[in-house]
Amino acid sequence: MIPVQGVSGETIAVLGLGRSGLSAAHALEEGGARVLCWDDGAEACSRAEGMALEVADLTKLGAFEGVSRLIVSPGIPHLYPAPHPVIAAAMMLGVPVDNDIGLFFQSFATEDWDGFDVMPKVVAITGSNGKSTTSALLHHVLQEGGRPAQLAGNIGRGVLDIEPAHDGEVVVLELSSYQTDLARALTPDIAVFTNLSPDHLDRHAGMGGYFAAKRRLFAEGGPDRAVIGVDEAEGRYLANQLVEGATDDRVIRVSSGQKLGGDGWYVTARKGFLTEWRKGRQVASLDLRDIGGLPGAHNHQNACAAYAAARSVGLGPRAIEAGLRSYPGLPHRSQQIAERDGVSFINDSKATNVDSAAKALQAFKNIRWICGGLEKDGGLAGLLPDTQNVTKAYVIGREAEAFARQLTGIETQVCGDMATAVAQAVVDAQPGETVLLAPAAASFDQYDSFEKRGEDFAAQVAKALAG
Ligand code: ADP
Repeated sequence: MIPVQGVSGETIAVLGLGRSGLSAAHALEEGGARVLCWDDGAEACSRAEGMALEVADLTKLGAFEGVSRLIVSPGIPHLYPAPHPVIAAAMMLGVPVDNDIGLFFQSFATEDWDGFDVMPKVVAITGSNGKSTTSALLHHVLQEGGRPAQLAGNIGRGVLDIEPAHDGEVVVLELSSYQTDLARALTPDIAVFTNLSPDHLDRHAGMGGYFAAKRRLFAEGGPDRAVIGVDEAEGRYLANQLVEGATDDRVIRVSSGQKLGGDGWYVTARKGFLTEWRKGRQVASLDLRDIGGLPGAHNHQNACAAYAAARSVGLGPRAIEAGLRSYPGLPHRSQQIAERDGVSFINDSKATNVDSAAKALQAFKNIRWICGGLEKDGGLAGLLPDTQNVTKAYVIGREAEAFARQLTGIETQVCGDMATAVAQAVVDAQPGETVLLAPAAASFDQYDSFEKRGEDFAAQVAKALAG
């Protein structure tokens, strides 16, 4: 645990008692604060009480008396579509609102560092898609390359739950737009922006707000090094804002598909080959084509981002290549779960938006595509150019019919649920084809999470193949 520094003797309120709220509460107590915890769910409150945390109803009048700060969880709206009433009250009273990420950056460096040979570094990774993959990949590459590393943030482990940094350690943080939007301190040594496409627009009042939230990672004083995906206008703009001139290598530009010109530092993957360029010269090249854990151009973009971040902390190209080759992949992201009679079954349940699903459709051929669920703003039009590899779509979800109507130009069957979709796809599939779950929608109409949806897909595939 990272005890929060500078809070001794203060009373601090924590709203939202999920993973990050509980970990913030413990780390604040460890730092000497009195912590008042609250969650709208009674069950979460009693769980906190069971952990000997002090629960106090923050919705009551006068609840903020003596409270110096409010820490909130990323799932709770702080501005759009409307601030949660407790956050609105804190803002009215002038009580600063922060989150666990802000507390982490405030507390990470300690006096122990005085005796270190190599200062610890934080790499923070944001973007619309590929954050988890890039974070897990970088963490793996660093560890395989002999650098001590820890992984936390939006990916499994709360940022305050990690161990205080060791000599020379690299902490890799995956940060969502909700997390970067609110954190009061946000000072990574290396910041990575993977890409940008519409997502979570209700929480950011549109694309501008969404981009602004992610940009905050590059604002406060700026990281020493910025790794920026420049395949969208927003990334090009961000990179341009950070560079002093064409040869400035504080920014490493990353692309999947483009050959980037200029004298700066960049890493690009074209036709399956990653190349690194510096000052107009190619300095390294790796073949990504047969790396099983990283299929498709989207994963090659993630490989470029992880490569650039690893180069920034001093790893050489061959050490990075070895790490990329042994990367085992993450569940629910382009994950092969079965293969039989020449038919491959791929679980990409994490493809919850149109852009990530489009990338999955580009990565495979002859696809029996299981899609559908809770649709995101903007509809499916952005996906249609990428359906040329689709043999047939099997649509699930509560609104399956409306979803299917938008899939013009491909054979479509409304299946409703996963069991029906998988059973039909298994009957239809021919050798050389891929049965791909890439829903292009959130899971909450039929599942608690994208993980549960992916697990159901795997279970139905196992059942269909056994029968
Ligand atoms: P995030 O943490 O940003 O949601 P993940 O690595 O979990 O990113 O991947 C989310 C989804 O996006 C998966 O369906 C994955 O296959 C797809 N994806 C991964 N990397 C990229 C990328 N660079 N561009 C577009 N889609 C991607």
